[in-house]
Amino acid sequence: MRLVRFIGARFWLVAWLLACWQILSARRILDPIFFPPPSQLGATFAALLSSGELGRGLSATLARTCLGLLVGVAGGGLVSLVLCVSPRLRIAEVGGIGSACRRMRTGNSVHVHRDGVAVVSRRRRAPLADVEVNSRMFTNLLPFAARFLINAEMDDAGILEPVACDCEYARAGMNWRMRDIYSYGNLTGQGITLMGSDIVRILESALPQRFGGGPGDYQLVEYDGARQSQLELRVSPRAGAESVAAVRDFLLREIRGCYGGALASRVWTHSDGLKAVIAEPFSTRSGKVLSLHLLGPKVEADHAS
Ligand SMILES: [Zn+2]
Repeated sequence: MRLVRFIGARFWLVAWLLACWQILSARRILDPIFFPPPSQLGATFAALLSSGELGRGLSATLARTCLGLLVGVAGGGLVSLVLCVSPRLRIAEVGGIGSACRRMRTGNSVHVHRDGVAVVSRRRRAPLADVEVNSRMFTNLLPFAARFLINAEMDDAGILEPVACDCEYARAGMNWRMRDIYSYGNLTGQGITLMGSDIVRILESALPQRFGGGPGDYQLVEYDGARQSQLELRVSPRAGAESVAAVRDFLLREIRGCYGGALASRVWTHSDGLKAVIAEPFSTRSGKVLSLHLLGPKVEADHAS
C-alpha cells in the first residue's frame, strides 16, 4: 500500500497523460497512425523484445551511429589540422583575422575570416611616419569574442580586396583577402614587434643625451632585406657621435628595458638585423624628420615616388 502511494505521488501526472493518450487514440480523436495507443506500443515492444528483433535493430543503429561519429571526428580533426598548420594572422585584442593558403604566395596575403571579424579600411595619416596609410579597423562578430570591438584600429595597415582563389578557404566563403600587411605604429624586425612610442623615446631623448645632437638626428629605418626585414639606425653627422658601434650597442641596451625588448635585443645582436650608419636621416615630403621610418612595401613605393 505504501509502495502504491509512493508511486502514485510521483508518477500520477505520467499515468494521467498515458490514460488521456490511450482514450484519445482509442476514440480516434488522435490519429492512431501518428499516435498509436500506449497499450499497442507496449505489446509491440514486448513482441520485438521476445523475438530478438529489438536487439538486432538496436545494435545495427548503434553501429551506424558510431561509424558516423568516427567519420565526423576524423574529418573534423583533419580540417582543424589543416587550419593549424596554415600560417594565421592574429591580433591579441581581436583574435584570428585571417589564414594564408598555399596559392597566395605573394604580398603577405591572408584570407579574411569573415565569419568572425568584419574589416574595413580608411586612409589616414600614420602617427609615426608622415604618410597616408590604409588603416584597418576591426569589428568582432562572434558572440563569444573576448572583447567587444567596433571599428577598432590596431595601427595595422594593408590592402583589402576580393580574391578569386582556388583553395579551401575561398570555397568556404572567405573570398576577401588582406595583403601588404604591416604595422605602422610599431617597430617590427624579424618577427619581433616593439612599441613605437618606446623606441621614439630612446631615439629622441636617450641617444642625444648620451652621444650629442637632438631629436631628428637619430632615425630607425625598417626595410625589407633580401631574406628578412632589416633595421638601420641612421645617425646624422651633425650629432658628432664618434663610433656608430657604440651608438648601436647603446640602442640595443636601451631596447632591453622596453616591453618585449630583451628578446629583440638578443635576436638583433645575433642576427645582425640592426646596423648603424653615419648618414642623414630620411626626411618626409613635408621636410620633417621622424624618428621612425616604418613603412610597408606598398607605402614605401608611394613614398619614394
Ligand atoms: Zn586561397
